[in-house]
Amino acid sequence: MEFQNSAEFAHQLDEQDALHNYRDQFLIPQHNGKDIIYLCGNSLGLQPKSTKQHLDAKLGEWQSLAVEGWFQGDNPWLEYHKQLLPALCNIVGAHSSEITIMNSLTINLHLLMVSFYQPKNGRYKIIMEGGAFPSDQYAVESQVKFHGFNPEDAVIEIFPRVGESTLRTEDILNMIKAHGNEVALVLFGGINYYTGQLFDMQNIAATAHEVGALAGFDLAHAAGNVPLQLHKWNADFACWCSYKYMNSGPGGISGIFVHEKHHNNPQLNRFAGWWGYRNDTRFKMAPGFKPEVGAEGWQVSTSPVLLMAAHKASLDIFEQAGSVNTLREKALVLTAYLEYLINQINQQAGDELFKIITPVNQQERGSQLSIICKRNGKAIFDYLANQGVIGDWREPDVIRLSPVPLYNTFTDVYTAALHLTQAAKTL
Ligand SMILES: *Cc1c(COP(=O)(O)O)cnc(C)c1O
Repeated sequence: MEFQNSAEFAHQLDEQDALHNYRDQFLIPQHNGKDIIYLCGNSLGLQPKSTKQHLDAKLGEWQSLAVEGWFQGDNPWLEYHKQLLPALCNIVGAHSSEITIMNSLTINLHLLMVSFYQPKNGRYKIIMEGGAFPSDQYAVESQVKFHGFNPEDAVIEIFPRVGESTLRTEDILNMIKAHGNEVALVLFGGINYYTGQLFDMQNIAATAHEVGALAGFDLAHAAGNVPLQLHKWNADFACWCSYKYMNSGPGGISGIFVHEKHHNNPQLNRFAGWWGYRNDTRFKMAPGFKPEVGAEGWQVSTSPVLLMAAHKASLDIFEQAGSVNTLREKALVLTAYLEYLINQINQQAGDELFKIITPVNQQERGSQLSIICKRNGKAIFDYLANQGVIGDWREPDVIRLSPVPLYNTFTDVYTAALHLTQAAKTL
């Protein structure tokens, strides 16, 4: 598409946008009496207006049914999580037996590594992206130590080549092959939180399997952002959070995927709890853990029903909007428009004031652009915030901007770029 740098053009794109009305389903914070321009959905998605009703419904059931709420009422809590699975299956590309919702993300990463990082016979290394989200780094480091290995030796981080900001797929695959039969697990983000790079999960999983290792993915920045096909890609496991692109509230419930090929494997360790016990006999409370078949067998604790209600409010909107491909179509244009406008600022300045480190190739990114500011980055970020443009700051010099197709408009993107232009001129 030929873009134009004008408010009229942005307005035209909004008029043509089939998803334009979905913005009305969200609560937009205010700044000086106007909607803020919220480009931070990669960190915390906005609140759907319907979240309150979903929570109220659960509070009402708690009020009127109390403990009977687990088994009675229109939506017994015991089965409630199942209502969320169809939308989630669509979002991550899984069969319903392969996913469940539980706990928080880092906890789930640990639980899944208990099952899928079982070093033996000289196979003990974990290969991951360099500069992964810190929580993932800490989780991996502590898991490796738990098994008696030294992280310096056992954790292989892959960094971009000198002078480059993102990873080449060939370098990832070659690194996996180079460590070959020492690799126990390849653990990658779906999208790197810092650069916004979307990784080739299918090829990473295939190469991990080629050398006899397993492949797991942290989809915190990918779930609800880009189309995923976990089953088809043959990922062994994955986990994600629901509070970023899935708008399910701060600290919202996390999800896990376990490929069906692992469902009947008795060799897998797991840290068990009663909520993972076979559903038909859980309440017999018998000694000896017998897992439910499928991802549900990884559950540990009682369902956090209120968190699930908040998640359901958001997933209903995803279902209404159609397939993730519909969202992806808009996201691609929205992100490309932001990219175009930033490139315009650089052109007009005759200088690369804002260097986009997120890949130019649309197949290698989602809704986020990470921008290195040549100078005064923090001041520029603060200037934007004062104008009501909310992005996200990462030390030492990166601003991340994420236009989200469900609630951001082309006018949002245009206006944000206008303030960025002004910031570059004055700072
Ligand atoms: C956001 C994010 C987390 C956060 O984990 P919590 O346990 O929910 O705090 C972890 N990993 C990645 C890759 C993230 O992007």
